[in-house]
Amino acid sequence: MCRTLPQHPRRAKPLTLGGLRLILSRMETFCGSFTQQEPIPEAGIEAAMAVLRGGRLHRYNTAGDEIAQTALLEEEFAAFTGARYCVAVASGGYAMASALRALQVCPGAPVLTNAFTLAPVPGAIASIGARPVFIETTPDLTIDFDHLEAMARATGAQVLMLSHMRGHLCDMDRLMALCDSLGVRVIEDCAHTMGASWNGVPSGRHGVIGCYSTQTYKHINSGEGGLIVTDDPGLAARCVLLSGSYMLYPRHRAAPGPEVFEALRLDVPNISGRMDNLRAAILRPQIALLEDRRHRWTALYRVLEQGLAQTQGLRLIPRPEAEVFVASSFQFTLPEWEPARIAALVARCLARGVELKWFGAPDPVGFTSRYAHWRYADPQVLPQTDRVLAGLIDMRLPLTFSTADAAQIARIIRAEVLSVGQAEVVPVAALSMGD
Ligand SMILES: *Cc1c(COP(=O)(O)O)cnc(C)c1O
Repeated sequence: MCRTLPQHPRRAKPLTLGGLRLILSRMETFCGSFTQQEPIPEAGIEAAMAVLRGGRLHRYNTAGDEIAQTALLEEEFAAFTGARYCVAVASGGYAMASALRALQVCPGAPVLTNAFTLAPVPGAIASIGARPVFIETTPDLTIDFDHLEAMARATGAQVLMLSHMRGHLCDMDRLMALCDSLGVRVIEDCAHTMGASWNGVPSGRHGVIGCYSTQTYKHINSGEGGLIVTDDPGLAARCVLLSGSYMLYPRHRAAPGPEVFEALRLDVPNISGRMDNLRAAILRPQIALLEDRRHRWTALYRVLEQGLAQTQGLRLIPRPEAEVFVASSFQFTLPEWEPARIAALVARCLARGVELKWFGAPDPVGFTSRYAHWRYADPQVLPQTDRVLAGLIDMRLPLTFSTADAAQIARIIRAEVLSVGQAEVVPVAALSMGD
């Protein structure tokens, strides 16, 4: 239920004219849901019903010369990214673990990755018994090249799991040149960059393997799901065999020829994690919608950016010209703010219907854990990342929001940043809405 709240309830009996005016003008509150995605397109619902009616949900359960929905999805996603090969799997996290296995990363081996990322990324590294080595984060939320080079040399790591966290692409040309010179192979975690590109090259097509998620909060939605793309026939065949293809790999269409499988089929373990035809049917019509979704997300993002520009105390993340991004979320930083002040801001915005997530909270909340919380990894000290995450605010941007919603959200955040940021003392309790 949406309420209009008095602006300063603690000053219910204002003594000043200014205070009186504040009481008379009511505070606006946002009423939308930050976790409500768009419905599955009708074409996807119809295709899903046809799969359900046929009962053939398993990808290798086909009648006659029928081509499975999963095989068609792989073909279509390969075409969308321009990759030669594609494998559909159970989740984005599974895709990343498969990529590491396909590259034959050994247990105990160091794997470089972003310190600022989501838990399934170090989780994928840990799942194969390898060791995550975290790399510092720049104030623009991308990987720090100097630290990457130093850590690659210090550890001898041969693989970088590059996470385009929250859709921020680093300079991919420089990154690839650096990794090539270091002999480091790059897996791209494109959970937030499906449909994005750097200098015209799609995200996921710079490294040797690209991994995507089709989980509900990403750019196409099948509840759970993952996609792997590569141009390397050996890696593609390994990913197909790893996903649990038994000896049915010839049913894959966006896959290399049988001769590549012949050499590998008895050596690569079946680590069951296939996608099913139901999810593939739901996803196929969404690929064609990605470009339109990107435009709509950009429109929301630009409204927020404009509404928050020149807000004292708040830093927007610059977006490089070479980057085409998909703005399924929005970030800004509050450099040098004390934790109590940020906690107060988050509480105040929440009271006005705006759900902000803070990466600097002492304990992980929801999806926002950070590297120091991942105790299965060797402990590391990353002062630059600590500084950035201490002031990092993150917000979901579902496509169910209108540009008017985005403008209202920006007004609320701006007003609260100015008021909380300039308040001299900010005891959290005194800032609760009081009703
Ligand atoms: C969601 C996400 C993943 C993992 O995807 P799942 O499909 O949920 O396993 C990986 N990396 C990032 C950055 C993500 O946000």
